This record gives sequence, C-alpha cells and structure tokens, in this order.
Amino acid sequence: MNPILAVLPHDEYNASLVANVHPADWQNPEPAPRYNLVVIGGGTAGLVTAAGAAGLGAKVALVERHLLGGDCLNVGCVPSKAIIRSSRVCADSRDAGRFGLRVREDVEIDFPAVMERMRRIRSRVSAHDSARRFKELGVDLFLGEGRFSGPDALEVGGKTLKFKKAVIATGTRPVHPAIDGIAEAGFLTNETVFSLTERPRRLAVIGGGPIGCELAQAFRRLGCEVVLFHNASHLLNREDADAAEIIQQSFVRDGIRLIFNCKTRKVERRNGEKIIHIECGDKTETIPVDEILAGAGRAPNVEGLNLEAAGVSYDKREGVRVDDYLRTSNPSIFAAGDICLNYKFTHTADATARIVIQNALFGGRKRLSRLTIPWCTYTDPEIAHVGLYEKEAGEKGIEVETYVRPLNDVDRAVCDGEEEGFVKVHVRKGTDRILGATIVARHAGEMISEVTLAMVANVGLKTIGQAIHPYPTQAEAIKQVADLYQRTRLTPLLKGLFARWLAWRR
Ligand SMILES: Cc1cc2nc3c(=O)[nH]c(=O)nc-3n(C[C@H](O)[C@H](O)[C@H](O)COP(=O)(O)OP(=O)(O)OC[C@H]3O[C@@H](n4cnc5c(N)ncnc54)[C@H](O)[C@@H]3O)c2cc1C
Repeated sequence: MNPILAVLPHDEYNASLVANVHPADWQNPEPAPRYNLVVIGGGTAGLVTAAGAAGLGAKVALVERHLLGGDCLNVGCVPSKAIIRSSRVCADSRDAGRFGLRVREDVEIDFPAVMERMRRIRSRVSAHDSARRFKELGVDLFLGEGRFSGPDALEVGGKTLKFKKAVIATGTRPVHPAIDGIAEAGFLTNETVFSLTERPRRLAVIGGGPIGCELAQAFRRLGCEVVLFHNASHLLNREDADAAEIIQQSFVRDGIRLIFNCKTRKVERRNGEKIIHIECGDKTETIPVDEILAGAGRAPNVEGLNLEAAGVSYDKREGVRVDDYLRTSNPSIFAAGDICLNYKFTHTADATARIVIQNALFGGRKRLSRLTIPWCTYTDPEIAHVGLYEKEAGEKGIEVETYVRPLNDVDRAVCDGEEEGFVKVHVRKGTDRILGATIVARHAGEMISEVTLAMVANVGLKTIGQAIHPYPTQAEAIKQVADLYQRTRLTPLLKGLFARWLAWRR
C-alpha cells in the first residue's frame, strides 16, 4: 500500500506527516552482516527500543510496514487528544454562563477546522518519530513488512536481516464487530475516523471502554448526535463503579444516549442511512445513524510474521506470549508494547521497551511485574488509576484502608467549577503504604503521577502529608487524603494524653 494514499485527506499536513514517517523516496539500506537487535514494528515500543539500543552502541535494524509512530501518533493518542481539546473548548464555551460570561450566540463548530487543527498538530509531533531522525541515531530503517524466516533471521523487502536478538513490537488493530450487515453498511474505526472532514450528524459508537468513551464524548461535544452501545451495565466497567458513574452522569448531561446490554442484531444500509437493529430483553428498536464507529476491542498483529518459523508461541486473541522478562518462547526474541500486554498504553509500550533493552542486550533481569502502571481515560472529567482496586485487594486477601476526598471539598476545584470527582487512595491496613488510587477530576491524568511516584519510591501517605502543596490546587486533594490518614493515627488515648499535657502547660 502506498502510505500517502492511506492517510486521508490529502493535504499539506498529511503530506508532511507521511514525509516524516514513511518518506515516499526512502531507500532501505544494505543489511549489516548481523545485528545486535532487529526491531519489528515502529510504534512507540519499537521506536523506544531502537533509539535506546542504538544510543547504547548496538547495531540496530528497525522494520516498519506502514507509518513510524504507530497507532499513538497516527490514529490514537495524538489525534484523539487534539480533538478532545477542541471538544472541551466547545463545552466550556457553552457552559460560560456558569462563570458569569454571556456568549451571545450558540458556539459555531467548524468541524473541518477542528480536524485540520488535529492534522496540523499530528504532523508537527511526527518530527519526533521521523525516518530521518532514526537514521541520524544510527538505526538501519527498513520500510516494509517483516516476516521471520528462521529463529535468527527476518525477511523484509527481499533482504535478510540476521540477528542476535529481536523484538516483536507489532501492536494491535481494531477488532471488527461481528454484527450482521455491518461490513456491507460500512463503519469507522480509529484507523479511519481521524480522516473525517465532515461531521456525521448522527454517530453510533460501539464500545464503552476508554476509546469508545473518549471519542463518543468528543464527537457529541463537537455537535454529533451520539448513541453509545456498551455490553455491560455501566461505562468503563474496568473502573470502580463510583468513578465510572460520574463519567456516565457527565455523558447523560452532554446528551449522549447510552444503551447497555442490548443485542445489536444487524445493520442495514437504506437510503444513505445505516439502520441499527437492536434487541433489549423482549423489546426491539431500530436506530438510524449516518456513521458507526467501532471502538470495542483490539486484535494483536501476529498474522504474517511467520512466528512458527521463529519458534515464537502466540495466541490470535492475546498476542505474543512472554514471560516476566518479556522473553518469548524463543529466548533470542523478546516482545514489547501492545502485542504482548494486557495494559495497552503508550507509556507501557515505552516502559516495556526499556526493560527489553536491558534484558535482551545486557543480560538484565528486569521484570514486567515490577512495573507500577498508571492509566487515564481522557473523558471530561478524566478518570485515572494506579495500583490495586479495592476489589482486587480483597481477591488477593490484602486488607486495605481507603481514604477519599471529594473535589467539592477542595477550594481550587470549587473556584474552577470542577467539583465533580474525588481522590481515593487505598493503603495496606495499619500502615501508610499506598497500594492503589483512583482519581476522577478534570485533570486526573496530571494528578495521578504524584501517587505513582510515591508508590514507586515507597513513599507513604504520611510523607505525602508532609510535602507542601501550593494553595489552591486541585492536587491538594491528594495531600488532604494524607491528612485524613494522619488524623486516624490520633487515637483517643493519644488525644487524651495531648489534652492533659496541654492543660498542664497552661
Ligand atoms: C483511539 C486511541 C486512543 C489512544 N489513546 C491513548 C492515550 O491517550 N494514552 C495511551 O497511553 N495510549 C493510548 N492509546 C493506546 C496506544 O496508542 C498504544 O498503546 C500504543 O500505540 C502501543 O504502541 P506499540 O508500539 O505497542 O504498537 P503500535 O503503535 O500499534 O505500533 C506497532 C507498529 O508495528 C507495525 N507492524 C505491524 N506488523 C508489522 C510487520 N509484520 N512488519 C513491520 N511492521 C509491522 C505497525 O504498522 C505499527 O506501526 C490509544 C489507542 C487508540 C486506538
């Protein structure tokens, strides 16, 4: 596939994106006799592995079949966050009355301009992942499909790359929904939705996980009528119900129609519309829309790699199997990023790439299970989490104490008019050791790192309480949770002793 044809629309921004991440005139180099490391896949995991290994002096080949930067840059984090920003401005403008401002007319949404801004930002950010940059770093970049021809060799574009070690970082792709007629009616995925230049008037989103929720809210706020289908009883069902409930209420206020636990029987195309037939208990309904966005599930890119020839075991749904050191069943081949992880995030792709560099090249013993992994869903408000959920702790037989600070008690959140949400921290019972936290707040993604750092550095709630937080900030909620913990240390006995001592000092 000619990549320039695949990145629509054809405009100056997409042309400069493609010039960075898959230059049309790129000539693959002559392969070295043998590489320290061959990296298959040029998304976050592959790029971080290749750059890090080359920086340490390894002879590295990087193989990418489509666009460097992978999902995150091209069809994931970057474009989604750019349009989410526009959608927040839109929601804030509509909400201006709450802040004493009068917007005389309704906010006019220039959807093509929103998408153009996204493309401009994406093309700018793409410089970090450019072919030229990786060449300058000393990486041999091969643009083409990689396929193993043996346990220590990979074929790309008719050339053979011999390796001492290899890393599979081929990521995932969207699962196509198994609904009758949907393929014929046509649907969008994250691979195509960012190419839209016209706003669909009515959009159905399939999937109430992070991708579905982020995009449903963004498109709703940008003026689409949105109906969201989810196969569970509440959105974001991996999160605590009290946290997800806040997001759900926000969706209802935004005017998103939520449909839970219904069967999507079939989709028909009729007079330019897509008619979705659903069945909820004994009731049936037809919902006409203009576009359908599938955001439910990811499938690992294992096909075509000829993993059998390399002796790498895998599962078509779960991806490449790795041990705690990220080694596959072939001890010379490792994996990193979405292809082998349950936690499919850019920051975990990055973190696992760093583990692989140490373990593959320097005989390191870094373990996946030692990572403390936070994540965030960028709805409004955001929902961020790190470590254990209370339920998980219970399943593992770990007793916890939980401290919660609602944002409507936090001065800055009140001033900002952003009172929805809370900071919730679980500590091991009888100690101040943090085991997990959930934050729901407009900028929860910015706040969760303080708790993550505390967990990584083994800093307890008591020490967080000793750190002065600037007043007024929403992050003070974390310190206030620490204060709640401190207060529980004041037992009636201790309180009585203090009182007596102070009376004696009067
Ligand atoms: C809409 C959306 C929004 C997201 N938002 C966020 C977010 O806000 N924060 C976050 O942390 N994560 C987010 N993610 C997830 C994030 O994009 C992924 O976790 C991340 O891209 C994984 O990186 P990776 O390198 O493992 O895989 P990928 O980015 O998928 O890269 C894999 C690369 O391998 C290439 N490849 C595959 N097979 C071959 C082959 N045989 N030969 C050569 N090359 C091959 C592919 O072309 C691709 O470029 C989002 C994802 C989506 C879809």
